[in-house]
Amino acid sequence: MANNQNLLSKLPKVDKILSEQRIINLDVPRNLLMDAIRETLDDYRENIKSGKLNEIDYEQIINAIVTLTYNKNKNHLKRVINATGTILHTNLGRAVLSKSAIEAVVEVASKFNNLEFDLNMGERGSRYSHVEKIICKITGAEAAMVVNNNAAAVMLVLSTLSKGKEAIVSRGQLVEIGGSFRVPAVMEQSGAKLIEVGTTNKTHLFDYENAITENTGIILKVHQSNFKVLGFTKEVALEELVELGQKYNIPVVEDIGSGVLIDFSKYSLSYEPTVQESIKKGADVVTFSGDKLLGGPQAGIIVGKKKYIDMMKKNQLTRALRIDKMTLAALEATFKLYIDEEKAIKEIPSLNMITMDISTVQKKAKKLQRLLKNKLKLKAKINIQSDVSQFGGGAMPLETIPTYVVSIKPNDKKIEEVEKCLRMQDIPIIVRVYKEQILLDLRTIFEDEYEIIVNSFDKIL
Ligand SMILES: *Cc1c(COP(=O)(O)O)cnc(C)c1O
Repeated sequence: MANNQNLLSKLPKVDKILSEQRIINLDVPRNLLMDAIRETLDDYRENIKSGKLNEIDYEQIINAIVTLTYNKNKNHLKRVINATGTILHTNLGRAVLSKSAIEAVVEVASKFNNLEFDLNMGERGSRYSHVEKIICKITGAEAAMVVNNNAAAVMLVLSTLSKGKEAIVSRGQLVEIGGSFRVPAVMEQSGAKLIEVGTTNKTHLFDYENAITENTGIILKVHQSNFKVLGFTKEVALEELVELGQKYNIPVVEDIGSGVLIDFSKYSLSYEPTVQESIKKGADVVTFSGDKLLGGPQAGIIVGKKKYIDMMKKNQLTRALRIDKMTLAALEATFKLYIDEEKAIKEIPSLNMITMDISTVQKKAKKLQRLLKNKLKLKAKINIQSDVSQFGGGAMPLETIPTYVVSIKPNDKKIEEVEKCLRMQDIPIIVRVYKEQILLDLRTIFEDEYEIIVNSFDKIL
């Protein structure tokens, strides 16, 4: 006990720490530095009292304070390297923005802008005006509007067209997406009454027709997105629902989840229904996400018949779900790239990754393997293997894309430890672990990230 008291009194005084050159050199707010000093000394005090520490190393204390200050000063939300091969990884921020989208955000956010100002008339304008025309041009819809995300879009559509009324949905489409979007829960929140029809695996047109009453608000079709029912199944095609809707004068709404705007089958991927197709088939309203296969910012896009979109613009809920100027800037720039499909494929990073030729991925893998071998020499076995990448983001669950990975098997470090160290880097590297190897999928790694990866492995191994 006496020894503890003795040690406690040997802890450096705050003034002494503050006069240390390495502390003076820290370019951080003083408040933050004082927090770091206090927390570090508190830690030491605890450890002394509990007998975990029986000597004091002054240099170690200063090091701990410098590291803690540095970590406190860093942003909590930061870039990471996605070596997982999952292209639209919801945990890793989904779509990476194109260069033109980022430039648009910077320009609009760093100065004043015409967000709600009509430059022609010199009077108040609508924030939706900036994107409505381009979205209509690309999707073929009559009208469009945008909100915070697709969950908000569905909520707004239901609230506008089906509040206090019945919304008919197939049982096979009452899905949960990303843990927090559940079709039945969203319906309840919006005030629409859910009328489930059919069974999990089969729903027929007559199931819908039998459920129609004078209190029916909408017929809703939801894309299953993150799962598939295989075998003895039947979904009613959109065209048939549209015909039914027209017969009873009930709007047909489709939540297609991922906003695919190009025909993926042209790029030897399996065909995924596009927004344009849903509009062409006569859906009254279609909703989709901005940051899934569209490759833009987080947003919910609503397209369809003008009379319905106009009703949504007037809904009070719209104000609470409204989209931010930075998102609008990024969204406009992203849609503009779709005017020329080739340009979209080239410049929208997620589309570029999805359509990247396997031989290009292999070349990238060989390059990274060479760089790693040069640096790590004999510290690990470094090979190339073929593997598969995933779409992610609740899109195309069964579909995988062939890819190449660089596999790293450290000679004398535990794989879990290496994986954790990679995650704790200044620029964290998120990887797959398989059979005692670290796998780096080259489909989602940018070329300018090789050096960071190589240097991190060098440091860790
Ligand atoms: C992803 C998805 C949503 C939710 O979209 P967010 O933009 O994440 O809010 C809703 N419906 C479907 C069918 C989806 O795939």
